[in-house]
Amino acid sequence: MSASLERGINAFKEQIDAPIATFFDSCVHCGMCAQACLFYTETGDPIRTPIHKLEPLRKVWWQEYTFLGRVAKMLGLSKPVTDEELTQWETLVYDSCTLCGRCSMVCPVGNDITYMIRKMREGMAVSGHAPEGLIGATKRAVTIGSPMGVKLPALQAQIGHMEKETGLTIPVDVQGADYMLLLSSMEIMNFPEFIGAVAKIFKQANVTWTISTEAFEATNSGIQIGVSEIAAELVQRIVDAAEKLKVKAVISPECGHAYMAIRWEGPNLIGRPYGFKVVHILELLDQLREEGRLKTTGKETQRLTYHDPCQISRRGGVVQQPRSLLNMVAEDFVEMPDAGTMNWCCGAGGGVSSNERADELRLKVFNRKKTQLDSIHPDAIVSACSNCRIHLEEGLEEYHMEIPVLSLTETIAEHLAED
Ligand code: SF4
Ligand code: SF4
Repeated sequence: MSASLERGINAFKEQIDAPIATFFDSCVHCGMCAQACLFYTETGDPIRTPIHKLEPLRKVWWQEYTFLGRVAKMLGLSKPVTDEELTQWETLVYDSCTLCGRCSMVCPVGNDITYMIRKMREGMAVSGHAPEGLIGATKRAVTIGSPMGVKLPALQAQIGHMEKETGLTIPVDVQGADYMLLLSSMEIMNFPEFIGAVAKIFKQANVTWTISTEAFEATNSGIQIGVSEIAAELVQRIVDAAEKLKVKAVISPECGHAYMAIRWEGPNLIGRPYGFKVVHILELLDQLREEGRLKTTGKETQRLTYHDPCQISRRGGVVQQPRSLLNMVAEDFVEMPDAGTMNWCCGAGGGVSSNERADELRLKVFNRKKTQLDSIHPDAIVSACSNCRIHLEEGLEEYHMEIPVLSLTETIAEHLAED
């Protein structure tokens, strides 16, 4: 057995906690998780059944932690997991899973398959079975501070553009501000208008805020690739910056996985609670709406629908807020089928978009989103995740659908009432 394979198997053993053991033990092989996963429904390939993606991990659990499995292993009746098996499963665990959480919602015995896949990636990564693209993104996140290699001067340039465009000062490194805004690299490079939109809204609502030059990146490649030490280091950078600036709360931007990382996984990763709150930008906007501090004027007349980013809606619980906000500015808001917590993933989350090898597959499974859209014929799609936004645009182009994709925060900013 190679040293890397041994490290991988050991990591599998370490990851098998009581919930995972119980989940494997209680699977009744009903196959319901298959029907919930777009990688199965759009390919019809049984190897993409969610629970099947965990087979090497299940094998290690059975051989190491069950009486029958131990005996079978001792008698040579059950062979150890091989490097070839892990190579084969790499494309299932990384290319064919966005960690969207939909399979976990339907399992009749309550198995959190998404949690298990997230854990399985820990063993895959240390055994050398992670995709090149994701390895590169993770290295850049550690060394440069951004998975896309976005450095501070690039952010400062975009801030400068937005200051010119809005006529407002974008606060940077302000001690004692109430909120510290994080950004994803995709927002900085592809959608800097988001920064301008936040500046306009916060000016109207009288929110004190800042961006930290020491920790502005929101996304966490450590979680996507499955290396908890790196994930913890990336969270710690944000925590250090927020505590140094003494802010009351950190705002997770329009990025699904960033919210999962900083809001839900972060405290466990660093082993302590934060000295500040974490809110998603939509939670804060909706709170401002409720407090009467967010005032809009006029409504979009075109037919708008909302794509729920998985980590924000299904896994994050921010479901009603975007709808309340959209109803402020949309005359004809229409839900797509399965909207809300059971909405279908765009197909690009969980590191899939950083993995070029998966490009063809992610565009194929976009057919699920196309089917949803075909039943409601929207004029535009609104969302709250820049990764979803880019993939929606690519998917729509692939399927020759001319539907613009909008940011919810930017849409709200366009309708702000004059003071
Ligand atoms: S988390 Fe989503 S993409 Fe991954 S196996 Fe489950 S349903 Fe499929
Ligand atoms: S839905 Fe649950 S019980 Fe059914 S096959 Fe999938 S993991 Fe097993």
